[in-house]
Amino acid sequence: MTTEALSPQRIGVFGGAFDPPHRGHVALARTAMAQLGLDRLVVIPTGHAWHKSRDLTPASHRLAMAELAFAEVPGVRVDARETRRPGASYTVDTLKELRVENPGAQLYLLIGEDQARALHTWHAWEQLPTLAIICVAARADATGAKGQFDALRAELPGLTVLHMPSMAVSATEIRQRVALGESIAPLVFEPVARYIDQHLLYRPN
Ligand code: ATP
Repeated sequence: MTTEALSPQRIGVFGGAFDPPHRGHVALARTAMAQLGLDRLVVIPTGHAWHKSRDLTPASHRLAMAELAFAEVPGVRVDARETRRPGASYTVDTLKELRVENPGAQLYLLIGEDQARALHTWHAWEQLPTLAIICVAARADATGAKGQFDALRAELPGLTVLHMPSMAVSATEIRQRVALGESIAPLVFEPVARYIDQHLLYRPN
């Protein structure tokens, strides 16, 4: 029996709006690669985010910024599939596709604490733990953590906590800072900041 047959491929799946991708996203990806011993990690910018009330920046920009943000993380690939899919982007559909494409692989779904709390509102959320191991990263601005986190553990068998220091950075804050003409240097990597500048993203109309 080969080593490959003994240890299935470990593939991380990290979805989000990435509008824009920031240092918190990259820290989460690096933590997951190391802690979970991932063979690779697929970063999947969402197409139509059914759970966000505002319109997202066009997918072409978010994909380009994700390429720049994750370029330095070995093993990460940006995947455009959800931006090409008509209708709402559902994680359950993406995981099912990845399972078909990678038979025998173990998938790890990476999410931040805020999304983990809202997981029960996701489409077909009960299926998620049957398709992937759910891995949650603590998030600095989260409130009322304990009770709900415990409840989540009860609902999601095998829930894994990613051990990374909480980072109080959000895409919302970055968009707000750009609109106000403030520096975003501490929150995003330089190539992303340059892209935002060159393409006049997040400026007030
Ligand atoms: P927004 O402020 O526009 O809602 P965001 O900063 O939450 O955006 P998303 O692209 O929506 O970024 O997040 C993608 C995923 O990354 C989600 O699972 C989210 O919980 C997680 N995430 C985002 N920022 C952090 C952070 N600072 N620490 C841990 N997880 C994070």
